[in-house]
Formats: sequence, C-alpha cells, structure tokens
Amino acid sequence: MLYYKAMEFKTAKRLRELPPYLFLEIDKAKRQARAEGRDIIDLGVGDPDQPTPKNIIERLYQAAQDPSTHRYAFDQGMPLLRQAISKWYKNRFGVRVDPESEVLPLIGSKEGIAHFPLAFIEPGDYSLVPDPCYPPYKGGTILAGGKPYPMPLLEANAFLPDLKKIPPSIRRKAKLIYINYPNNPTARTAEKNFYLEVVNFARKNRLIVISDLAYSEISYDGYRPPSFLEVDGAMEVGIEFHSLSKTYNMTGWRIGWACGNPKLVSALAKVKSNIDSGIFSAIQLAGVEALNGPQEQIKNMCSIYQERRDALISGIHSIGWQAELPKATFYIWIKIPRKTDSIKFSRLVLDKADIVVTPGVGFGKYGEGYIRMALTVPREKINEAIKRLKKIP
Ligand SMILES: *Cc1c(COP(=O)(O)O)cnc(C)c1O
Repeated sequence: MLYYKAMEFKTAKRLRELPPYLFLEIDKAKRQARAEGRDIIDLGVGDPDQPTPKNIIERLYQAAQDPSTHRYAFDQGMPLLRQAISKWYKNRFGVRVDPESEVLPLIGSKEGIAHFPLAFIEPGDYSLVPDPCYPPYKGGTILAGGKPYPMPLLEANAFLPDLKKIPPSIRRKAKLIYINYPNNPTARTAEKNFYLEVVNFARKNRLIVISDLAYSEISYDGYRPPSFLEVDGAMEVGIEFHSLSKTYNMTGWRIGWACGNPKLVSALAKVKSNIDSGIFSAIQLAGVEALNGPQEQIKNMCSIYQERRDALISGIHSIGWQAELPKATFYIWIKIPRKTDSIKFSRLVLDKADIVVTPGVGFGKYGEGYIRMALTVPREKINEAIKRLKKIP
C-alpha cells in the first residue's frame, strides 16, 4: 500500500459557479423505483425512442469498412458533408450558406453551443439566456468566465423573451444572446417578426445572436418552423446551431452543425481545433446520407409524435390540467395543477403514479410552476400514464 495524504483538489471557480444539477433528486428516485421493480413510465427524457433510419445505419456500416475512415477526420468536417448541409439548408429555408466558410460540422450541437462562448466571452461579460432553457447556454457561458443573465420566458409574452425589459447596464456588458425556437422546454415557437426584432436588438447593442434550431423538423399540423437566418440582417449578427439528433433519431451518434456569419463560424472552428479532432469520418458519411437521402421518414416520425401529442394533451385536459397544444418539439409544458413546487410535484407523480416527469425549475427559476413531459414513449404508455395520473389523490 502506498500511503499519501489526501490531496485537496480545489476546483476552479468556473466549475464551482456552474448551476447545481437539479435533476439529481429525480434521477435518484427514478433509479430507486426501477430497482424496486416498479413499472416506470419515463416521460422525462428528451431522447427519441425510434431507431435511426435504416439507410443511415447501412451507410455507417459500409463506411466503417473503409480503412480511410479510420484515421483522423478533417477538423472542419468533410467537404462532402459541408456541401450536403448547405444544400439541405437551401432546400429547407431558402438560405444559402457557403459550405467552405459558413458551415461547421460539430460533434453534436451541444458541443458547439457549449464551446462557442470561449471564442467571445471575456471575464465578466454577460450572455443573455432564456429562462427556462437548455442548460448548456448557461454552462458554456460560465465555463468561459461569463455571466448568464436570464431573460424570463413567461406565458404572458407567449414564452418569448421581452427584450425591452433588459436593462441598459446589462445590454452594455452583454456579448451574446441565445434564442431557441421551437423551444425546449416550453415547446413554443417563434415567427420571423420576433427574429427581426432580435436582429435589431443585436445591431443596436452589438450582440452576437446564437439561434438553436435543434427542433426545426419536429412539427405538426403542417407547421414549418422558420430559421433565424431567413430574416434580413441575421447573417450579419448571428450563427445557428442544428443537429441530426432529433431530425434523424441520431442522438447517440454525435453529429450536428453550426452555420451563419463566417467570422463567427471560423472563431468557433479555431476554438474546436484546440479541443477535438473532428467527427469520426464514417459518421460524417452517414450524416451525408441522412441529409441527402429520403426525407419521408421525418414525416412518419412526426406523425407518430403527433398521435402521442394528441393523446397526451387530451388526457391532460381531461383531468383538468393546463397545457397548450404544441406546434413543434416533442415536449408538453404543463402548469402544475396545485400549490407546490415543481420538484415536489415531480416527486409526487413518481411516488403515486410511477411516472417520471421533468421539474420545470431544472431549466431555470422561471420554469418553476411547470413540469415538462416528453413524447418519447409509445402511445399505449401515454394512455396508461393518463390512467395513472387520474388516480393521483
Ligand atoms: C436535443 C437538443 C439539442 C441537440 O443536441 P445534440 O448535441 O445535437 O444532440 C440542442 N438544443 C436543444 C435545445 C436540444 O433540446
């Protein structure tokens, strides 16, 4: 045995400043419930339950047989992938992004979102982040030495941030503004008039706009979410993050991209060139197949989610809970039907109904008063969940 004094590993301030992980208690309770053999319905995770389409898996399989894919990939993504992204973008949004200078493949969009602030945030700078929000907006800002400033997403303002309410003192110190529509966790959408307002706000206050469009393809009733880059002036101030994760059921594959203003794209590329060495080439080629191949599978996937959405919403309404029918995303944002907080209420739902839901406060303090349910379980499970919820005393 080697004897040594336990070292005191004092973590860096940036690490200590990261917000606490509020899903810990629910995660623990969930594991315990499973260990007890209870039949848990998990409406907590935002991870598609459907498999990746066959053609994409086949392409990975073929590509992985080719030894040339086994070596370091191009840092900045294969030209073939950047071209496929550019073509997909033009078809989908009518916006041209130059595959050479305005597109950057990522190891999942979370990776790029979290690294982006390293390129622009100086110690003490602010990022304007929606609250509630996808956690990496805050985490990435803090790890870069910056401070997240919450922009409340309130029902009274259709869950859009009220830019007029951001004080001048904060505007002066802010570098970045994050927007995410279709939104996780509120499931709300934004239109081009909001994006135009954001462009004006960014110009006036010299801000960089980060648009997270992970859910652009998960939408219902014929609704097609717009891209931030569709509006005039957006290319001058912004960068948009996209992901193959939700569109093609590829969350575990780790592939996404950023596109937009070439200066922003190249700054992110510079950060990344010091951190990672690109996406496995076979996965890049599978990504090309996803973007260039048949797109009907997306329609089928959305119609599955749509059936689940309708079942869950009508069930929720039948027990007197309040939630709006979402036009996009696979989430339902539900008002807590009694006087308690979201963690306690999520705990109650797990204890009494064996259902996992996500407490709204885990996404930020303005998420308090809500829970999020995900449509990532089969319809029968949703029906069963409603039956169980009816019985909660
Ligand atoms: C799922 C999700 C992403 C995508 O993450 P990947 O890293 O590409 O898998 C990005 N933003 C939001 C809001 C999400 O919910």
